[in-house]
Amino acid sequence: MKRKEVLIVGQGLAGTLLAFELHVAGVDVCIVNNPQKSTATRVAAGMVNPLVFKRMTKSWMVDELLPVMKKRYRDLEELLGERFYFDLPMIKPLSEQETELWQERKADEKFTPFIENICETSPVDQVLKSHAYGIVNGSGYLKTGLFLDAAKRFFQENELLIETDYPTNQSSFENHIFQDIQFDKIVFCEGHYLKTHPLFDFVRLQPAKGEVLQIYAPGLSENYIINRRVFVLPIGDHRFKVGSTYEWKDLTDHPTEEGKNSIVDRLKELIHVDFTIEQHWAGVRPTVIDRRPVIGKHPEFDHIYLFNGLGTKGVMLAPYFAKEMKKLLVDNQYQIHQEVNSDRFL
Ligand SMILES: Cc1cc2nc3c(=O)[nH]c(=O)nc-3n(C[C@H](O)[C@H](O)[C@H](O)COP(=O)(O)OP(=O)(O)OC[C@H]3O[C@@H](n4cnc5c(N)ncnc54)[C@H](O)[C@@H]3O)c2cc1C
Repeated sequence: MKRKEVLIVGQGLAGTLLAFELHVAGVDVCIVNNPQKSTATRVAAGMVNPLVFKRMTKSWMVDELLPVMKKRYRDLEELLGERFYFDLPMIKPLSEQETELWQERKADEKFTPFIENICETSPVDQVLKSHAYGIVNGSGYLKTGLFLDAAKRFFQENELLIETDYPTNQSSFENHIFQDIQFDKIVFCEGHYLKTHPLFDFVRLQPAKGEVLQIYAPGLSENYIINRRVFVLPIGDHRFKVGSTYEWKDLTDHPTEEGKNSIVDRLKELIHVDFTIEQHWAGVRPTVIDRRPVIGKHPEFDHIYLFNGLGTKGVMLAPYFAKEMKKLLVDNQYQIHQEVNSDRFL
């Protein structure tokens, strides 16, 4: 029987970045992915925002995450021969009260890399009138579909990918054999399907459905992401991704009329420009109750691991935490930080 070191279940952002980490480190890895199941990564707008506007704080661990993220996507662009990560500044229209808070933050050197300016007039004409406009640095976006497709081609060319469902039942956990291959370790990167995984029912996942539109707006500037209650993200050829919504009861991947109307209403409050809706998607974010990733080893099955909980910020979190996951897989003694360790739910 053939033997391999690691089987990864799921080829979303988590599984894909982990597979590259392991492959590049010379670990004998294989991925199983069910293309019939929904993949949040394909629906995601792919936006990266280093700030949390609600409280005007820096995004969690942004100083550590951003450099790792940028290097990882650049290296993968070179390996795969395609560009999929783009830096792009962001405009945040501000009320009078928000302007004061932004000015305070701008004076704080911890925010220097992320607040480029606070302007009285918008650099984009089509944005509706506001008291002022904050310009964010360090923002950008990943073309998530393009990235997954390029990665998939690489995995197929290198015979690393099996496209089928991995059965999550007792016997599949106890023996390490899948499709006549014996695996030393299995890592589950199943996104929101973790909710029904019998071995990880202790993880407090709180999946959140989201909807996104693609619009065609030839009159709108493509030089900035615009973000206030809804984001408008240029993706080229006068096309923009616009989103999103949050829903915790209906966890299907069906787009809804209600979701579309909610996005369009907010969009019309943000920009005045003609547009047509071209696409409408829905997916489910693997969000954890404490909004942190979940990484670790199963408490009973020594060969079973988990990499999940990328929530609303998978693009920024996945590269850094794929490295952490790799360290744990190659060194059993490696201490995963308690804030992200799956043990915290036991
Ligand atoms: C509407 C929306 C907008 C978003 N916007 C952004 C954004 O702008 N920026 C950002 O950073 N993040 C965004 N996100 C979040 C982002 O999509 C997630 O954080 C990230 O994609 C999660 O990746 P994942 O690999 O954990 O899960 P997924 O991408 O869902 O991948 C899981 C994979 O596992 C496979 N799978 C599951 N079970 C099995 C099994 N038993 N056998 C085989 N295969 C299996 C599935 O087929 C799937 O391919 C958004 C999400 C949504 C829904």
